Amino acid sequence: MRCRKWDTARVGWGREGVPVKVGVLALQGDVREHARVLTSLGADVVLVRRPDELAGVRGLVLPGGESSVIDKLARSFGMAGPLRAAIAAGMPVYGTCAGLILLADRVTDGIVGQQTFGGLDVTVQRNAFGSQVDSFETDLVVTALGTPPVHAVFIRAPLVLETGAGVETLAALDDGRIVAVRQGPLLGTAFHPEVSGETRFHELFLAAVRAA
Ligand code: GLN
Repeated sequence: MRCRKWDTARVGWGREGVPVKVGVLALQGDVREHARVLTSLGADVVLVRRPDELAGVRGLVLPGGESSVIDKLARSFGMAGPLRAAIAAGMPVYGTCAGLILLADRVTDGIVGQQTFGGLDVTVQRNAFGSQVDSFETDLVVTALGTPPVHAVFIRAPLVLETGAGVETLAALDDGRIVAVRQGPLLGTAFHPEVSGETRFHELFLAAVRAA
């Protein structure tokens, strides 16, 4: 059977003709929503809470939720070191919202002592939209994904304030503020495609996993 490059039934399949095994970090946050999207794309999804579970996957999603809580749990579960090492070794990772914060090398407005796994050469401002607009939805043109635009849901979302030389901006708000970035196998969005029926960012992530 022939299969187009973006045939969504096959996006989650590896070169070996079997589903690729990817994880969702399952310490806190919207784990199930990510697992559902990845499963719908044909991936074999593992909920990752322990280092041995991390060692068995070829890519990882860091979900939305509360970055300071995920940081603390990751440190007390002995996951922070293995996560940093896996990212440094080139594992493809996709972070949404809190997950983007956890992937960032630098964070402003974190809680006292908040740490990240890092890997993405960006500075991210946590809760950047403040209390006046905690949550909003908008359509974003994302050239890398083609048409239609992405319907993006922002929930107490961060913003990317600065990007290093190797970082590609994938999407920005109308005023130019950056809300989606990619650096090699690392992908981050300030919004939540997993809650709006949008699958194309997860397809990009799975393509990076297959290519890694
Ligand atoms: N404000 C949250 C944080 O600091 C992120 C919110 C989200 O993931 N929707 O982690």
